Amino acid sequence: MNSVHTEAIILSTKDHGESDRLIRFFSNEKGSLRGIAKGARRSRERFVHSFEPFSVVELKYLERRGLIWVESSRLQEPFLALRKDLERWGYAALITELVLEMVPESEPNPDLFFLLKEAYARFSEEREPINVLLLFLFRFLDFLGYLPAMDACSKCRKPACELTRWWWGVKRGVFACPDHRSFDDDEFPLDLGTVTLIQKSRRLSLDTVWRLCFKRDKRNALLEVLIEWVKELIQKDLNSVRMLRKLRPAS
Ligand SMILES: [Zn+2]
Repeated sequence: MNSVHTEAIILSTKDHGESDRLIRFFSNEKGSLRGIAKGARRSRERFVHSFEPFSVVELKYLERRGLIWVESSRLQEPFLALRKDLERWGYAALITELVLEMVPESEPNPDLFFLLKEAYARFSEEREPINVLLLFLFRFLDFLGYLPAMDACSKCRKPACELTRWWWGVKRGVFACPDHRSFDDDEFPLDLGTVTLIQKSRRLSLDTVWRLCFKRDKRNALLEVLIEWVKELIQKDLNSVRMLRKLRPAS
């Protein structure tokens, strides 16, 4: 039996039986995990307010016969601002849903842990939550290996900085100059400024990346293309997106 003490982010929780809860969480050391908290709905002492999604907690659990038994959980950061604003809550729910759907379980990824925690913090405090969402999405999709290199045309290797207009074949994972674009349905136009921002969003350190700012008039189209793409990758609709569309029909 292996007892573990870790910092973790609560991704989702579900009632189980009379008094237990099933917890999906992202641990700093071991990545995405699922565990059971026995008596969680009765014991307020061991689990004080700490099973709300997006909360950062200090978790103690036991690993026994391949199962994870959550022993106690102490709240470190509840990101209360997210719970007072439905739109910000929706963005936090969206990135959480993507982690649940797209990140393999039991694979350590401390960078993703930090990215997720930083994104919740920025959603809580920044004036431009859609910009935060775009920065998160590009970094996240880069972590998972879905983004093509955007430093040069995939075909002729012409450097990105030499042209102002580029084409991103989203589903095929190609990046093309106007001479080598394919005219396929998945092609999305990118100006050099946006290409440069995407590249920086993949490279800057996780505490400075949030300084980048996508142009306002580009944000909605970029967000739309990313969301449609991830929906296709996971082969289903996203609950959080449905909720956000009700709040913001235009986006
Ligand atoms: Zn080319």
